[in-house]
Amino acid sequence: MSDLVSIFLHLLLFKLVAPVTFRHHRYDDLVRMLYKVHNECPHITRVYSIGRSVKGRHLYVLEFSDYPGIHEPLEPEVKYVGNMHGNEVLGRELLLQLSEFLCEEFRNRNQRIVRLVEDTRIHIMPSMNPDGYEVAAAAQERDISGYLVGRNNANGVDLNRNFPDLNTYIYYNEKNGGPNHHLPLPDNWKSQVEPETQAVIQWIRSFNFVLSANLHGGAVVANYPYDKSLGHRVRGFRRTANTPTPDDKLFQKLAKIYSYAHGWMHQGWNCGDYFPDGITNGASWYSLSKGMQDFNYLHTNCFEITLELSCDKFPLQGELQREWLGNREALIQFLEQVHQGIKGMVRDENYNNLADAVISVGGINHDVTSGAHGDYFRLLLPGTYTVTATAPGFDPETVSVTVGPAEPKLVNFQLKRSTPQAAPKRRIPNSGHRGRVLPKKVQPRAARKKETMMKQPQRGPA
Ligand SMILES: [Zn+2]
Repeated sequence: MSDLVSIFLHLLLFKLVAPVTFRHHRYDDLVRMLYKVHNECPHITRVYSIGRSVKGRHLYVLEFSDYPGIHEPLEPEVKYVGNMHGNEVLGRELLLQLSEFLCEEFRNRNQRIVRLVEDTRIHIMPSMNPDGYEVAAAAQERDISGYLVGRNNANGVDLNRNFPDLNTYIYYNEKNGGPNHHLPLPDNWKSQVEPETQAVIQWIRSFNFVLSANLHGGAVVANYPYDKSLGHRVRGFRRTANTPTPDDKLFQKLAKIYSYAHGWMHQGWNCGDYFPDGITNGASWYSLSKGMQDFNYLHTNCFEITLELSCDKFPLQGELQREWLGNREALIQFLEQVHQGIKGMVRDENYNNLADAVISVGGINHDVTSGAHGDYFRLLLPGTYTVTATAPGFDPETVSVTVGPAEPKLVNFQLKRSTPQAAPKRRIPNSGHRGRVLPKKVQPRAARKKETMMKQPQRGPA
């Protein structure tokens, strides 16, 4: 009987104490929080694991959607990843706060949040490096200082230097021709990466993510690709060469959305460093090879930026509320950015969905592809564009589109099967058209054929 009373009191206490969550969460606590949010909002959330860390801890994701677990065609997928460096912990706590906030506001029928959840599939991974976090948190409790304690995973590897390096290939291809998107993984990639990295790569290959941010600490700035410098570091100069992607203007806008919605990031002066508008091209800050951000852009449809959110990598508990208030609007606005540009279905004449069709935009040398359901998403700034859809065995289709500042424009494609049957009937001498040859640039999924690319130099070109 007294047990029951004790449980009742415990529950009551938990209920009263629960909303105050401005504290650091160890692994067990974090898992409890994710399930707590799920239990409070079971119809719009799902907890899943993408794999395990070196020490066997789950890499949990909390998903928000009006149909959790299901990809709805034309509804974009977006993700947040926190705590990749185990000792950079603010992102982890912010993502827990965000999860609770989305759930509560949805329940309160906050129209902005309801709309966001209904129109977007949001994946939140508070910790990509739970092993490193435990080391960092333990050191913190014992007051052991050390800038790098807990940064790496349990094998001592920096996970943001652990992704396959695709930059070398793209820099070569940009100069010499070759695929500009979906660069293939090396054959033996699994043996070259850590369990956490492998889990994340498999995760981002299995969802058609469109937009993403990776939350770090140690500075306050929104950092956009490329992270890896094309040129070599100039001796004596701290900053390396600005190395923009073909989507540079868009990335700058995405970064600015965050920095200006953030309480103080946009002011530029933070942690003793200055970044105009609170944003920076990664490579122009310092060159970083094998990072997750560049990998997302070069291997998938996902546009990722890296958010450095606090001078102190492990902020005091008492600072968490202020940090949450400084980041809350930015975290929401960034998610909303996935709804811009163009999107649509790619189908054949019989209304079958075409996956892996290539969507090219004139003037931007970076294509995206349609997902498994035949839907594609192409983030674009306002303007008028020439957009071409191609798929193997189909004639390309090109349209002109004007994109406004608000909603994404719906642009569907219905591709006609090309007619190679006409040619091979009998050998006709002098027959010039043995199947259409698409321009090299738009050959769909050419990137998947390893042979067609990379006679690349050993090192970066230039
Ligand atoms: Zn970091």
